Amino acid sequence: MQTDFTPEQLSDSDTAQTEKILRACVHCGFCTATCPTYVLLGDELDSPRGRIYLVKNMLESGAAPEAETVKHIDRCLSCLGCMTTCPSGVNYMHLIDHGRRYVEEHYRRPALDRLMRRMLGFVLSRPRWFRLALLGAVPAKLLAPILPARLRAMLALAPASVPSPSAADGPQIFAAEGPARMRVALMPGCAQQVLKPEINAATIRLLTRHGCEIVIAEESGCCGSLTHHLGQEEAALAFARANIDAWERMRRSGGLDAIVVNASGCGTTVKDYGFMLRDDPVYAEKAARISALTRDVSELVAELGLRPGHGVGRVAYHSACSLQHGQKVHRQPKELLAAAGFEPVDIPEGHLCCGSAGTYNLLQPELAGRLRDRKLANIARTEPDFVAAGNIGCITQLAAGSSVPVLHTVELLDWATGGPMPPALGAAAR
Ligand code: SF4
Ligand code: SF4
Repeated sequence: MQTDFTPEQLSDSDTAQTEKILRACVHCGFCTATCPTYVLLGDELDSPRGRIYLVKNMLESGAAPEAETVKHIDRCLSCLGCMTTCPSGVNYMHLIDHGRRYVEEHYRRPALDRLMRRMLGFVLSRPRWFRLALLGAVPAKLLAPILPARLRAMLALAPASVPSPSAADGPQIFAAEGPARMRVALMPGCAQQVLKPEINAATIRLLTRHGCEIVIAEESGCCGSLTHHLGQEEAALAFARANIDAWERMRRSGGLDAIVVNASGCGTTVKDYGFMLRDDPVYAEKAARISALTRDVSELVAELGLRPGHGVGRVAYHSACSLQHGQKVHRQPKELLAAAGFEPVDIPEGHLCCGSAGTYNLLQPELAGRLRDRKLANIARTEPDFVAAGNIGCITQLAAGSSVPVLHTVELLDWATGGPMPPALGAAAR
């Protein structure tokens, strides 16, 4: 694709990167067929190729974008299905991230939109605030019928009751069972530990059982992904730097073999810290090192080798976009489920997003709802006993409409290799 940036524009590192990405696109349109928003809406401007043109024109103009441009950029899920399909290796992730930052810096959204996006970026990344917001949402559900659609969508996703904080999530060390094979930092995360504290607990049991010493490092927390995808870059980089500092302190004080992340949306961002901070003279080298040490929990368990398990049941494996398209992790979760005794089955249209996509299901409830219904119908065709996924966003999104328990893959692996029954199955049995 031809571009028309001025030398002054190209002196900006982000624009120079984006220009290289744009030039790799050959307009072939292969990506349109696998783009969820194009599949639903059939509008070229809601396809990857259409958005690539919109971002190119917006950046080249150097001006504030039109509301129409922002609408189509906002409708992108950042699912990265287009990156998997593209034969030319176009890095759509870095392109749309730059586009979102530009919109945030140059476009004035309506006041309610601005408020909502600020509030989501702040509250969801901070477990204490998020827990308080969820506690407030429980009685507010009674008012749902008279609230605007977006607030109704938020309340619909809030759980009926809020789990108590888990003692497992504070800074501490969990000893390996038997001789330690690895010393691993577990990223405690933010929204997941509030919504489903059982996921970190299952991860700790599973990894310590397989010979890992687990450290939850002081001052590690949210990865910054939620704010990053809202275009709130300063906030995102502040979270990234805090995590890098925490894990570097751990590395210097006793060693660090890997950073394990059990929410694949977060893992994709931590694996990208090296790129996000490439121009930071203090953090560039450290960020690249941290990204290189980062593993999805399924990658790490596969490396360690799973003990024989006694799992039973048919598991519809939902491959989160961030895991399959963002991190290119495909086979490990299914192989681990099979090794644990379960029968993993693929879901038809498995490449399509479930509509969760970070804050997408809160900001674009109509499209997110259509994608969820489509995914649930495809899941039902596999007639599963359980649904497994490696990302809290997908788990929350699917569980809100599923008649079958939706679990994190590590909960099933932990259960099958000696851990307790996952709470969601206990609740389903009652
Ligand atoms: S990231 Fe997903 S929604 Fe966005 S353009 Fe690519 S395929 Fe479409
Ligand atoms: S498939 Fe790749 S090269 Fe073809 S239009 Fe899409 S992004 Fe461009």
